[in-house]
Amino acid sequence: LYVDHPLGEGQSVPLDRDQAHYLFGVMRLDEGAVLSLINSRDGEWDAEVVKTGKKGGILLCQTLTRPLQMPPDLWLIFAPIRKERTAFIVEKAVEMGAARIIPAQTDYTQSANRIRQDKLQAHAVEASEQCGGTFVPQVEELKKLDRLLADWPSDRQLMFCDEAKIGDPIGLPDTPGPWAILIGPEGGFSPAEREKLHALPFSHPVSLGPRILRADTAAVAALTVWQQALGD
Ligand code: SAM
Repeated sequence: LYVDHPLGEGQSVPLDRDQAHYLFGVMRLDEGAVLSLINSRDGEWDAEVVKTGKKGGILLCQTLTRPLQMPPDLWLIFAPIRKERTAFIVEKAVEMGAARIIPAQTDYTQSANRIRQDKLQAHAVEASEQCGGTFVPQVEELKKLDRLLADWPSDRQLMFCDEAKIGDPIGLPDTPGPWAILIGPEGGFSPAEREKLHALPFSHPVSLGPRILRADTAAVAALTVWQQALGD
């Protein structure tokens, strides 16, 4: 279970109404039951249920079962697409080890106003719990691509997945340091965006092979290529 509370030996962890409903109503846990907790900071802890209730409850941390394992410092920036496909991208980004997930408004982004950051964050928590992670990446509020590029950190490289480069070799340089991956929307990048992304010194245009992939497929392919070339 993911909790937004410090974890440590003897630490008591209060539960809110939703968590109590899930643990005691849906999972039918009783006092004395032991479950795993993560909070993205303190690793994974076994905790015992010491108080149950309809509106809340209390868990008591016992032992550290796994230390915190941070993913590589990789951002996934993507233009949101249809709801369930955007959820798929978030889920796969967590499984593949992105540290930060940033939906971006590009010139041809159609689905931006349907983005629900809280729902996507819940998908990230679920995906991390499912794959046994001890860290849940932050899914951020929608940001304008222009703004992200204007505020770009000086040491970070950008793997710009450019559908217009199809047919060229993959072309990811093995420059060390933190990276970000950029995936465009259904309609691809506008000519103005492409021109800018080709001119920026930190941006590396990359092909994902000879066919135009759907944006959700492209996100998984890009994460795989990056992990293979530069991940740990
Ligand atoms: N119309 C499709 C859809 O509905 O999803 C295709 C979308 S494709 C234009 C979306 C994004 O995936 C592109 O902007 C690019 O970032 C990435 N992409 C897809 N195929 C690619 C390829 N072969 N090489 C590099 N990037 C690719």
